[in-house]
Amino acid sequence: MRCLAVPARNPGILNRMPPRVRAALAALVLLSSAGVASAQPATPIDYRISIPEPEHRWLQVEMTLADLPAGPLSLRMARSSPGRYAVHEFAKNVYDVQVADAAGKPLPVSRPNPHEWRIDAHPGAARVRYRVFGDRVDGTYLGVDDSHAHMNIPATLMYVNALATRPSRVTLVQPTGKAWKAATQLFPTADPLVFTAPNLQYLMDSPIEFGDIVIRSFSVAPTSASGKTQTIRVAMHHLGTDEELDAYVRDIDKVVREQQAIFGELPDFEPGHYTFLIDYLPWASGDGMEHRNSTVISSSRGLGDASKQLIGTVAHEFFHCWNVERIRPKSLEPFNFDDANISGELWLAEGFTSYVDGLSLVRAGLNSADQTMSRWAGLVGALVVLPGRQVRSAVEMSQFAAFADGATAIDPTNSNIAFISYYMYGAAIGLGLDLSLRARTDGRIGLDDYMQALWERFGKSPAAQPGLVATPYTLADLRATLADVSGDLGFAESFFSRYVSGREMLDYAPLFARAGYLLRPAAPAEATMGMVSLTYGKDGARVTALVGPGSPAYKAGLEMDAVIHDIDGRAIGSAEDVRAALGVRAPGGTVKVRFTLRGREQTRDLVTVPNPRLELVSFESAGREVTPAIRTFRERWLD
Ligand SMILES: [Zn+2]
Repeated sequence: MRCLAVPARNPGILNRMPPRVRAALAALVLLSSAGVASAQPATPIDYRISIPEPEHRWLQVEMTLADLPAGPLSLRMARSSPGRYAVHEFAKNVYDVQVADAAGKPLPVSRPNPHEWRIDAHPGAARVRYRVFGDRVDGTYLGVDDSHAHMNIPATLMYVNALATRPSRVTLVQPTGKAWKAATQLFPTADPLVFTAPNLQYLMDSPIEFGDIVIRSFSVAPTSASGKTQTIRVAMHHLGTDEELDAYVRDIDKVVREQQAIFGELPDFEPGHYTFLIDYLPWASGDGMEHRNSTVISSSRGLGDASKQLIGTVAHEFFHCWNVERIRPKSLEPFNFDDANISGELWLAEGFTSYVDGLSLVRAGLNSADQTMSRWAGLVGALVVLPGRQVRSAVEMSQFAAFADGATAIDPTNSNIAFISYYMYGAAIGLGLDLSLRARTDGRIGLDDYMQALWERFGKSPAAQPGLVATPYTLADLRATLADVSGDLGFAESFFSRYVSGREMLDYAPLFARAGYLLRPAAPAEATMGMVSLTYGKDGARVTALVGPGSPAYKAGLEMDAVIHDIDGRAIGSAEDVRAALGVRAPGGTVKVRFTLRGREQTRDLVTVPNPRLELVSFESAGREVTPAIRTFRERWLD
């Protein structure tokens, strides 16, 4: 049983977990080694969720606990949510908390910290009642209104770390006068409003959409002899028409099949189906959040005008059912609800997913190669321009996620100059790795083969229970797998040390040339000040963000809040004025900039540089020959 080896091989992660979670997970492993069925069955934790006044945006939770171990009972609200890497204080929306024994006698509750309700003395059972407010429809929070209860579980349900291995049962109460339906990756029962989860990790990973939803489903046959037919469900809450939904479900079907082709199979979805939980509502916030057997996708836009844009999130989230949900970094396994996990592998978990979402849309015929190439040119161009790469590697960008992924703070950070999103950075690395592997093999081996190898090694084998991952990977595992797929240890070591752990950037131009695309500066004759954000007003151009280190503007002493009055005596009131003033001389020329910064007026020399923006042009449009070798390379990559 391969899964049994995991916690022993993963002591570092367990040591970072709170002691109770650690003990509970160790207990789970012991249980699984003896066979779960032969162990004493634990009384499931029972949750009952009712929504007496949906229009007022709160719901009532009743939690019943039995067979409690001796010692204090610690009820907690999560500080993080699976797949969202920043800390969120979900306890802030919980109120009217009442704890009683089984007979209804109140038990004293203390608050040792903002996230915990502690009951020091209890008779082995407790009934907990509380209300929780929620007014945000996205992948992280709770949204309750007259049309639905959109529940992300960490934002909704209290949990007990000491009971992390216990199953739970969730009962939804139909609001008066409604005929809502429920969709979730929780395990179904004979009652359509009652669900179960085998353990805490799975429960917290299982959002519920309970509302005015329409459910469509389709099955996907296996493409290999060993595979099983899988069911995909689309639970849609929207204001559009059935025809729009049917057309959208056909597009989703194409994406699913295109991604299945990369791995040769779909994962085995434990509850019997994978579910897209989609809210396209004017009052929703744009988001996509992956889970093991489902995803939450939300947008304020609708299928009528935006289905072509919205399908990109579908492609992204579905690829996660392999990459991150099952091919999972050790740094995210198990997920810590008391604090934020830190992961150095999000450049692959999120970045490669971002690369493949675009690739699978081209292959499925849902996006043109030209559109995708211009997106990828933007990606590579951003890496050239953005200064963050000088101070952080892709691994360090990933580790910054806790401060970037939906995090809020009052004091400013310098992330516009010191951080590049691991989505963007990782997508550029994925693109570069795909082309590098193909360039070495005339297009025969690419990122598809690498992802498939990661799937075979780390994703495919089932864990002791749904909600856990048997063989999570490390950075060293990723490098070793690349060495095997490429057949070249030196290539793998150099790729990781230069572009993943190091701060170097791949040379993309020769790689794109193999596929018949020319990567070149878009406006090399245009003189610029480098990376500066400006807004224009009566007194000149105001610098609105930190200036890129090393840029001409930076060297000239310009910084956020400076107001540029004139350049070489020419008053600056618009972007056109800046272009005209800088354009008098070729790039490399010197201009005089007069500006005021924090109360002091000064005039400084500024040496311009060529506009660094890149463009990607097909050989056809550039008038270059497209050889048969180029044609084959392109087909193997994009078709
Ligand atoms: Zn993602």
